[in-house]
Amino acid sequence: MRRATEIVRFPASPGDPHQPVSTPIYQTATFAQDDPSEPGRYDYSRSGNPTRTVLEEQLARLDGGIRGFAYTSGMAALSAVLRLVGPGERIVAGDDLYGGTWRLLSRVVAPLGIEVRYVDLSDVDRAREAIAGARLVLVETPTNPLQRIVDLAATAEICRSAGAWFAVDGSAATPYLQRPLAHGAALVVHSATKGLSGHADLTAGAVVTSDPALAERLAFDQNAEGTGLAPFDAWLLLRGTKTLAIRYDRAQASASRIARWLVEQPWVAGTFFPGLPDHPGRRIHERQASGPGVVLSFTTGDARRSVAIARHLRLFTRSVSFGSVNSVVALPCLSSHASIPGSDRRLPEDLVRLSIGIEDVDDLLEDLARAGAT
Ligand SMILES: *Cc1c(COP(=O)(O)O)cnc(C)c1O
Repeated sequence: MRRATEIVRFPASPGDPHQPVSTPIYQTATFAQDDPSEPGRYDYSRSGNPTRTVLEEQLARLDGGIRGFAYTSGMAALSAVLRLVGPGERIVAGDDLYGGTWRLLSRVVAPLGIEVRYVDLSDVDRAREAIAGARLVLVETPTNPLQRIVDLAATAEICRSAGAWFAVDGSAATPYLQRPLAHGAALVVHSATKGLSGHADLTAGAVVTSDPALAERLAFDQNAEGTGLAPFDAWLLLRGTKTLAIRYDRAQASASRIARWLVEQPWVAGTFFPGLPDHPGRRIHERQASGPGVVLSFTTGDARRSVAIARHLRLFTRSVSFGSVNSVVALPCLSSHASIPGSDRRLPEDLVRLSIGIEDVDDLLEDLARAGAT
């Protein structure tokens, strides 16, 4: 099956005698047992719930892994992955990370006695040096919001020879565009709040792995810590994933047109989008992903100007997050990356991030032209 087919053709209700075509919401905490000495396939929803199982199996299928896990948020998913590392061990993370990931690593993980190093992993030589001796390597690609590209196959190879697990936060690309496990990653993490669900109507996270030993540990921890996604949210996320291909096809085509248009505007200083011909990571990105995605960012040369533009936009919701059917504008230094103190933040203050939705692209371009002219 090709990807767009796989996204909608999956077993929706395995074993259900009524064969519902939409997965039922098993809104129950407990399951009765026929015999007190023999628990059934399900006993307690923290440990497992049929709605969540359908979602987790579909998440595994979409990312080409052996097992998937759904969590209450992207941060809970990342936390589950970072939990695999113990005191005295080292995590090497990319230096252009989601602000919440930086906060988790610096304020929660590092105080446990785990060494955390931030390195520009788009530079393969620096990556090789930093990864020697690491237990886990965590990257985003494309990075958010600067849209830097990390070479997945090259980094996976370095991790393999160093004996480190390679984890990729694939929230921006989603498995529709990029499957890190196919390039040698051991783990892929998603904030399913973003493109996977696509409607800004829930928070959820996902982890998919290709490693049986890691799958066992993740399953144990998900039950032990009670971080699994609730049945209704699992159903909502599953519903959102069904339109992933058509949403991303549409939004990505619009994002490409908007990026090319921004490059030509006198009020734009720099445009960051992996689909632009002069993007430094373009060739690597094209090798490992089937499209540039729906997020782009630009600078204006003046932080006050950037704030003014964001204020004047009418169709772009001023909001955090990305990957929804509605277009969104954000100033990362004031929102998603505000949890990183200024001295550790490596972002231009005048950076404007756009997440492109499925509106008519001409309306979006007109809105941008009007806001840019003020
Ligand atoms: C939003 C985001 C997260 C955190 O996910 P939540 O669902 O908000 O907890 C992690 N990584 C990236 C790249 C994100 O954009």
